[in-house]
Amino acid sequence: MNSLSGSHSRYPAGTSDIRYVKGIGPRRAEIFRRLGIHSLKDLFYLFPRRYEDRSRFHTLASFPLGEPATCRGEILEIKFKPIRRMPILEVLLGDDTGTLRAIFFNQPYLRRTFETGQWVVFHGKLENYEGRLQLPNPEFEIMDRSDENSPHVGRIVPIYPLTEGLFQRSLRMIMKDAIEKHLNETISDYLPPALRNDMGFVPLDRALHDMHFPATLEDQSRARQRLVFDDFFSFTLSLLIRVKTLRTQFQSPAIRPEPGCFEVFKKALPFELTGSQEHAMREIEKDVSAHVPMNRLLQGDVGSGKTVVAAFAFFLTARAGLQSAFLVPTEILAEQHFRTLSRLLTPLNITVELLTKSVAEDDRKRINATLKRGDLSVLVGTHALLQEDVVFHNLAMVTIDEQHKFGVHQRGQLFQRSPRPHQLVMTATPIPRTLGLTLFADLDVSLMREMPKGRKPIATYWISRAKQAEVYRHVAQRLSKGEQAYIVFPVIEESEKADQRAAKKEHSRLQKEVFPEFKVGLVHGKLDRSEREAIMRAFGRREIHVLVATSVIEVGVDQPNATVMIIENADRFGLAQLHQLRGRIGRGSLESECFLFGEPSTEEGKKRLRLLTKLNDGFLIAEEDLKLRGQGDLLGTRQAGVPFFRVANLATDEAMLVTAREKAVDVTNGLDLATLKNPNHWIQKYLEQMPKND
Ligand code: ADP
Ligand code: MG
Repeated sequence: MNSLSGSHSRYPAGTSDIRYVKGIGPRRAEIFRRLGIHSLKDLFYLFPRRYEDRSRFHTLASFPLGEPATCRGEILEIKFKPIRRMPILEVLLGDDTGTLRAIFFNQPYLRRTFETGQWVVFHGKLENYEGRLQLPNPEFEIMDRSDENSPHVGRIVPIYPLTEGLFQRSLRMIMKDAIEKHLNETISDYLPPALRNDMGFVPLDRALHDMHFPATLEDQSRARQRLVFDDFFSFTLSLLIRVKTLRTQFQSPAIRPEPGCFEVFKKALPFELTGSQEHAMREIEKDVSAHVPMNRLLQGDVGSGKTVVAAFAFFLTARAGLQSAFLVPTEILAEQHFRTLSRLLTPLNITVELLTKSVAEDDRKRINATLKRGDLSVLVGTHALLQEDVVFHNLAMVTIDEQHKFGVHQRGQLFQRSPRPHQLVMTATPIPRTLGLTLFADLDVSLMREMPKGRKPIATYWISRAKQAEVYRHVAQRLSKGEQAYIVFPVIEESEKADQRAAKKEHSRLQKEVFPEFKVGLVHGKLDRSEREAIMRAFGRREIHVLVATSVIEVGVDQPNATVMIIENADRFGLAQLHQLRGRIGRGSLESECFLFGEPSTEEGKKRLRLLTKLNDGFLIAEEDLKLRGQGDLLGTRQAGVPFFRVANLATDEAMLVTAREKAVDVTNGLDLATLKNPNHWIQKYLEQMPKND
């Protein structure tokens, strides 16, 4: 229930304290407190998880089959079948039209809940089980004969998320009373009327009322729209204000080299830039020409060519006589980037060096000295860049590759200096648009959707285990042409050890029985870094032909000669991750192929693998993945920094997010920050009233 915690009311104790609400004594107040509900306002933002239309019940005779519905009746009979593995409680309900049987599996304690003669409301889906109609595990509420004209029947009734010690009916009564008596005095709408009218929104107090006790489902839906907007608008607005404040606080060196730099750089390239690359470069060039710190995210699928965009940023910076740092998560990647940058920049007379833990002491001293003197323009490296003895002369540009691999603190270290360097972060994790707009709401985003010309889509096949031998033969054929292959065994955290054992065992089987005439290597997360890197290097030198790997293989490794990938147990993974894995092939000019083995047990799992065989674009895949899994799973993936929204759903509310962001940008652009010092400014009051998104 993390959703309810973390809201700290800044209301003084007094009438807004929930202890003053009828029905909330010290014991319930304590339960609410544990849910993070301290004030009346907090209480109003505890929303139903669904609604039941109890204005008209289905009669038992007309209860529909196979769709969720609600009925009411009297308990005629209760039967308990103490089957050991699965005790069953049968409750027979009756009304004027007939009877209906509800079945509760594995909840023997319900014997003490129900009594014959009770009035109950059941909500569930009626099914036909071997010719018998039954309502399995319905949600239920035991009613009073005196319930007419209560909040519990005769209307659309809220069903709340519950916690131990909090019951549906008492919570509903508390809410009803609190809303009737205290809503108006507690809630004012600080959204400017012009904006509210423009959007056709109901006032906030009305929206809160209708979220709990709507007269119609349309009213509830209108209320929800208003609150979804508030979720997104308050979140984006406070971030944008923070960014605007930061930007006036810190100054960066304006990077303004001689005109024509872009053309010089472009001419020196061995390939033609994609439109996306060129666009991103132009955006960077514009950003850094001002004293306002650049804070840009370069988001592009694996292989979209982000490195050359970073190279351009370094080039500009060097031509302006300033220094750049390129922070990279692993040594292999740092070496790879160093080679790429040297190739691109040395002919343009830009100096580049590499600094990692493996760099010899002498070299390290020399590099540090030239860096300090200002005789070195670009330093590429791992965490080693963050050491104290690494002193820049005039650092003006920091670029971070695979930014999610670094902690906030680590990244921060390069920026705590004056003047503040411009910042470019890069990520290859394609995420759905809604998530991007929230996770990266404080960054300017250059999205690279275009792939370099001539890149062939990776042909992906979902293959039955029966065809394994055939796939191996096919792979061997490609190997004998000098190409290389990956065979990936997914590792999931819960069973990491067993997974690794499986990979090891498979490695020896593959070496001995399947590819005896080739060299088969193995990397997994439990190898120490130097061993792992030695193997990756051998693969890079083509001394290893087949690399058996767990899914922990290095990010971003570029081996264009690797053209085949087999992914085992592909069903155990999310689409996004499979796509990332697959991105390690298809990097050269040869046709690449990816074979997926795996028998998903669910229809959704099958859809996932089928999607992967159809789509190559990581962003489309991420969108489809979100649709398949819903936002619950998205939040469950522990994606760091995903904000929590009370009402809004990232899987379904994209249009409102876009609108809310536009409005927030409008408001922020026209805002004089000094006016915010006034606590009565509507923005202050509005943001203060909104629940926090964490
Ligand atoms: P990523 O975005 O995954 O970091 P890289 O920057 O590693 O991608 O680029 C992948 C490969 O594509 C590299 O070998 C790079 O030289 C090449 N490349 C980049 N841009 C282009 C382009 N416009 N045309 C052709 N090849 C390109
Ligand atoms: Mg990269």
